[in-house]
Amino acid sequence: MSLPGFGDFLKNNLTPNQPDEKPGGTPGSNAPVFQMLWDCKFCGTKKLLGVDNKFCPNCGSPQAPEMRYFPSEEDKKAISDPNYKYAGVDKLCPFCQTPNSAAANFCKQCGGDLTGAKQAELKVESAATVGQAEDLVKKNFDAEMVRIGVAPDPNAQRNWTPVVLGVIAVIALVGGLLFFLSRSTYKVELQVAAMQWERTITVERLAILTGSDWQDSMPGDAYNVSCTTRDRTYTRSESYQCGTTRIDRGDGSFSEQPKYCTRQVQEQRPDRWCSYTYNRWTFSRNLVTSGGPENEPVWASFTPSASILTGAEREAGRFEKYVVKFAGLGDKKGQEFTYEAPDFTKWKTFAVNQTYELDFNRLENALWDTLKETKR
Ligand SMILES: [Zn+2]
Ligand SMILES: [Zn+2]
Repeated sequence: MSLPGFGDFLKNNLTPNQPDEKPGGTPGSNAPVFQMLWDCKFCGTKKLLGVDNKFCPNCGSPQAPEMRYFPSEEDKKAISDPNYKYAGVDKLCPFCQTPNSAAANFCKQCGGDLTGAKQAELKVESAATVGQAEDLVKKNFDAEMVRIGVAPDPNAQRNWTPVVLGVIAVIALVGGLLFFLSRSTYKVELQVAAMQWERTITVERLAILTGSDWQDSMPGDAYNVSCTTRDRTYTRSESYQCGTTRIDRGDGSFSEQPKYCTRQVQEQRPDRWCSYTYNRWTFSRNLVTSGGPENEPVWASFTPSASILTGAEREAGRFEKYVVKFAGLGDKKGQEFTYEAPDFTKWKTFAVNQTYELDFNRLENALWDTLKETKR
């Protein structure tokens, strides 16, 4: 037994640049850890181990982080050293660029001070190698979306700018033309040909209706309920492992973490399917009265039912309409124009055979608020 030395003190307390997340390195995390591989660029020895071979066993040249790569499944090797402990991403010696353990304070190669040394750059696994069990369903779905034009093709490189500018120019031109045509007006002479009023009372009846639905979706006032047990389809989303993500830990090792995707799963559960009866007010009929200027407008006579038993009737609403039909004169001779007055009072100011002047715009819309009586 020896007392912990100064070096150990430094190791435990002054370790800089610890990554916040250390997959597989944090206590309690049991993500498996493997060795990255590297190829010696001096003698050509291939598949050297990222943790076990800090130097090329053939020529002695040091491992550099940029030489590291993720192994294939067959070449994957666990770390054999029982004393291996993850200290963090390697530090690059600012004097000779040799990677050193994050726990080291001086370069093992040249003895240089590692204070303020930069971290080794991490390798990112290319997307093509991520995911052993690739989600083929999603891939096919995405491809289909691109094929039928719902989703944009990620490979398509298209310059839309001329098209967009062209569309904007056309919209501006058409808009300007329409604005001009709607503002440019001309006068038309009209004569009242006919006047008509129409009054409508909408009647509802309390009807007996039947329906069927799942018990939890029945109307609250359902009666005569009879239910049977049936399978009901539920859709829930489920998380599943759709591959593995490899994370470079920066010291020649990498961890593997399961990659999760979600999918929709349908399942059947027995539930209660019910038939039932319920009462609802439903449209029954319209009571319409109509006439001309010679009759005073009246509502149809309607008496709502005294009780609210099924079959009872009630009034659901009243609507009135006051129409003036104009015959065109001059250039518009032979044409008919229908004006709906806002209320009875306004309608009453018209009389058959009276003449009027009305503005039309070049889009042939009648501008009814310009209607003016003319003296004959
Ligand atoms: Zn070598
Ligand atoms: Zn050095």
